Amino acid sequence: MDAFEYRDTTLFCEKVKIEDILSEVGTPAYIYSKNAILARYHELEAAFQDNNVLICFSVKSNSNLSVCKILADEGSGFDVVSGGELFRALKAGASPSKVVFAGVGKTDEEIRYALENDIFMFNVESTNELEHITRLAGELKRMPKVALRINPDIDAKTHEKTTTGKKENKFGIDSIEAEHIIKQSQHRYPHVDICGLHVHLGSPIYTVDPYIHALEKITSLVYRCRDAGVDIAYLNIGGGYCISYTGEKVIRPKDYASKILPFVKKLQCRLIMEPGRFIVGNAGILITRVIYTKKILHGKSFVICDAAMNDLLRPALYDSFHKIWPVNTVIKMPEGENPSEKDMNVGVVDIVGPVCETSDTFARDRVLPVVNEGDVLAIFSAGAYGFSMSSTYNSRPRPCEVLVDGDQYRIIRKRETYEDLIRGEDI
Ligand SMILES: *Cc1c(COP(=O)(O)O)cnc(C)c1O
Repeated sequence: MDAFEYRDTTLFCEKVKIEDILSEVGTPAYIYSKNAILARYHELEAAFQDNNVLICFSVKSNSNLSVCKILADEGSGFDVVSGGELFRALKAGASPSKVVFAGVGKTDEEIRYALENDIFMFNVESTNELEHITRLAGELKRMPKVALRINPDIDAKTHEKTTTGKKENKFGIDSIEAEHIIKQSQHRYPHVDICGLHVHLGSPIYTVDPYIHALEKITSLVYRCRDAGVDIAYLNIGGGYCISYTGEKVIRPKDYASKILPFVKKLQCRLIMEPGRFIVGNAGILITRVIYTKKILHGKSFVICDAAMNDLLRPALYDSFHKIWPVNTVIKMPEGENPSEKDMNVGVVDIVGPVCETSDTFARDRVLPVVNEGDVLAIFSAGAYGFSMSSTYNSRPRPCEVLVDGDQYRIIRKRETYEDLIRGEDI
């Protein structure tokens, strides 16, 4: 589990005992490892360094300012999908010249904000959007770089709700239409410089094949554009790089690089990528205290925690698997997804939150050591799409976020209060 490891019977993040953080900040709380984030960023950078790759961290995976700043300080770029994310990235110290902006519904206000800040590139998802950008760019006397987001109609074999590159999905432009747009770009869209192609297939993707398949389609499009006199200098292959949620071995950046780089080299394009989950996913956990245990007569056993779907939505939304294990335990956390029940002190339980929804379930029929009221559990691999997807549903203040660096830690976002819940409301 990279930065999170049991030593003897207790869980550590880097050199800090989770228990020590807990006693100060309480539960539920997100805890991130700075050095795990850096290690992932550097692994990706090293694998693709031949190409002078531009890595744009996907802000929506973890938008905390301190997390973004760690990456900004390393020279990372940022992939934003809203004006609010651009605001965050800039506050965190991002260089605007390394920001790419995607999304099917950019408003004029958001486009103007991005133009005024001279971001690196817009990833454009429709002709209507292109018309808005060229008009606003003309008004502001800008000439933004644009990549057309291609919908390659590829099934990335991920969850139905996280697939984005099939033709029935709302994302991107069909490649035939894109070719048409590019060929008429100079007279129809005079204030934009269409110089890139973008794909993002979904997430998480567990093989390189969908990327290769997309690159094959895009390669022929690049040649057709060049034949028509329009140079495509940038290829953006999006995000979606998988991480291990269950402890299983998964492909690593060098495996992606060895297959992807040949395409980019052959086309002599500069590569842009938009990793989110890969960089922060395994670098964070959510800790939560057991409020009650409950056994239904002749039925299931429930462990009811103080974290809920409003804090970590992935299991409810995508049926995602997260390893869950007590922070203090004499029983070793099993390697795989389905450990045996051999040990006398484990049971099979549903781990749930207090929210009034049946989908408020972190794990079903999960093997867990016997736990009691007050025990604390760690929900692993919660660094991506954890806090950033949180809400205050059921009027639950959101958890705090903590960043560990070596033997130090600090709160990087305070726990919300009841007063925070009603800020801005009027009666
Ligand atoms: C969400 C998203 C990403 C990041 O996906 P990960 O799976 O977190 O790597 C990248 N690009 C776009 C356009 C996205 O919407």
